Amino acid sequence: MAWKSDFPFFAAHPELTYLDSAATAQKPQAVLDRLMAYYVDDNANVHRGLYQLAYATTEKFEAVRQQVADFVGVAAHNVVFTRGTTESLNLVASAFGPLVVGNGEIVTTVAEHHSNFIPWQQLAQRNGATFTVVPAQADGDVALADILAAITPKTKLVALAHVTNVTGALRDIRTIADAVHAVGGYLVVDGAQAVPHLPVKIADLKADFYAFSGHKVYGPTGIGVLVGRTALLEQMPPIQFGGEMIDQVAIEASTWAPVPLKFEAGTPNIAGVIGLGAALTYLTSSAWQARQHHEQQLLLRLRAGLAAIAGVTVYGSENAVGAVSFNLADVHPHDLATFLDEQNIAVRAGHHCAQPLMQQLNIPATVRASVGVYTDDADIDRLLSGVEAGRRFFHE
Ligand code: PMP
Repeated sequence: MAWKSDFPFFAAHPELTYLDSAATAQKPQAVLDRLMAYYVDDNANVHRGLYQLAYATTEKFEAVRQQVADFVGVAAHNVVFTRGTTESLNLVASAFGPLVVGNGEIVTTVAEHHSNFIPWQQLAQRNGATFTVVPAQADGDVALADILAAITPKTKLVALAHVTNVTGALRDIRTIADAVHAVGGYLVVDGAQAVPHLPVKIADLKADFYAFSGHKVYGPTGIGVLVGRTALLEQMPPIQFGGEMIDQVAIEASTWAPVPLKFEAGTPNIAGVIGLGAALTYLTSSAWQARQHHEQQLLLRLRAGLAAIAGVTVYGSENAVGAVSFNLADVHPHDLATFLDEQNIAVRAGHHCAQPLMQQLNIPATVRASVGVYTDDADIDRLLSGVEAGRRFFHE
């Protein structure tokens, strides 16, 4: 496939093997061109100007909201623009959490990203709710049966990732949603690592809230999405106040714009939204199945190759999406990552914003390699040779 040539980053770094797309994805030329065109041709504030350019830019901005909605199978008013997954999840925890949590239970897992862990921990502490953290198995993944068993009649909120960022574990969101709804609770899904790799239809998944980041789907940084059910967004109070989010303001009281604008105070990240639109256009122009097949094949080959190197532990399961975490016996992950970096191989080493998981597995960190559309067989070969060279360097 010719995906790599769509990304000028690789022409600028011909020596680099980039295997850190789970941290952030590179941007196709189409996104960079659209950002430049926005600033050259379209730059005007949205939702306020009474001149033609401002109207036209507002239309382009709102057209991306519709595009995002179509992309994930919801209506445009269900799409709130945020700064990223982190802000989306914090918005739900701050604005929706207090409406429902009472002194009930919040359920999450030990394998969540901090941005989908700490907001719930803090919400539980503020409200005197029970914070239930489902443990992982020895391979770092959390069993579906254990998640389902943690949901009780007192469960008010369940928060978990669709795909986890350490091991790439894919969760059965639909089954979990049915279990949460059966006890009258709500399901918040962190889709940061799912949307870049899978066709996601949020209404079919039955998630109540779903968050993702633009920069991981080949769009700009600083733009993210929160999708919420209409009735829930309507109940939620805004937590930021300012321009654009109001209906009427008087000295005594103020009223709010309808959803989703009620949650978008101030000048939004207009360029980010426009760039996200270009990224989704790019993604939808390549067939999902071809992309998914390509990425899965690479990951399977990587897992098998790593497992064949003496002393390598590979975490997670064969069904992992987007990423593989591993360690080399008796070598600190940071040392292995530094060794790989000397060969121009960029992987992530660390706790991956999932310290509770590292604590449970009793390891300081892992090395994580993650793929994007542009990753190819040569990248995988270079990583495998690099890890094998690392084994010889550190072990022999
Ligand atoms: N959740 C998961 C699973 C992630 O991988 C990330 C990004 N590392 C986030 C949440 C946070 O995303 P952002 O930094 O874009 O807000």
